[in-house]
Amino acid sequence: MDGSIAQVVTGLELWQWQSEAKQKAIAGCIPPDEVDWLLQEVANLDRLSLRLELFKTRSEIALTRSLAELSDLWQRRVESHMPVQYLVGVTPWRNFRLTVSPAVLIPRPETEEIIDLAVAAVADQNSSLQTGLQTGLQTGHWVDLGTGSGAIILGLAEVFPQATLHAVDSSLEALTLAQTNAQQLAYCDRIQFYQGSWFEPLAHLKGQLSGMVSNPPYIPYSMIPDLQPEVSLHEPHSALDGGEDGLDCIRHLVRTAPEYLISGGIWLIELMAGQAETVTQLLQAQGCYRSIQIHRDLAGIDRFVLAYRV
Ligand code: GLN
Repeated sequence: MDGSIAQVVTGLELWQWQSEAKQKAIAGCIPPDEVDWLLQEVANLDRLSLRLELFKTRSEIALTRSLAELSDLWQRRVESHMPVQYLVGVTPWRNFRLTVSPAVLIPRPETEEIIDLAVAAVADQNSSLQTGLQTGLQTGHWVDLGTGSGAIILGLAEVFPQATLHAVDSSLEALTLAQTNAQQLAYCDRIQFYQGSWFEPLAHLKGQLSGMVSNPPYIPYSMIPDLQPEVSLHEPHSALDGGEDGLDCIRHLVRTAPEYLISGGIWLIELMAGQAETVTQLLQAQGCYRSIQIHRDLAGIDRFVLAYRV
């Protein structure tokens, strides 16, 4: 959101707006706390003062959106089910604040863990090395395929400060946004961005990748209309639609990654409940992977599959 002041209101006026918006949220089955999420962004107030209504007695609060604009935004949230992250244009993810727009999937909290899994996989691989002569995977080339907002590649940039990073997306709009996020976090000079389909723009990296990480589209297309309206009506279907059984993109990644990964290189993806066993079998059948592992998310759902290139 643009940071310039649009209106100055009293604490009481803002409190009235907040109360009404929360009533509308409750009536529309939207979590009322999301009102505070919006107000945090536009009124520069912290969560606690919003929750405890500590701002109510202030004589002046500067807003970056007028109350009329806020009412319009809130109406879109309640009536059109527009996710609050798109309304405010940012989302928290790991310790970042990422810019998001309807051109990209909103990075999910459960995806945060894929970065920790990559770190643990590198540590495992390093501890199994016989000598200290080889440099670890953490200093090599890493790729995020289908980067969207850039969340995963930025997470990797933070945890692997010596790695060279590559991010691919088929959407130019998504790449522009990922680059904006990389600039904001000062990781721009470590990440190369490519427009294209999966490994296609990375021919120069054949046999050189330490790791491939991806949150590919994995929802079976017939299930998309049944997702929450926030997702099915507003998030890009190109980031969700995994074909008939949801595994189209994952099958492609199983097939194509071995040509790009070094021996011992890491293959790591997110998927949905019920897919992990099948993907494990696909990796086994492919013949180029070892130590195939399924990892759960914090909700106990099989959410990630990890393997090493033989
Ligand atoms: N996790 C997303 C959802 O639940 C789907 C993301 C994906 O397909 N990669 O809507």
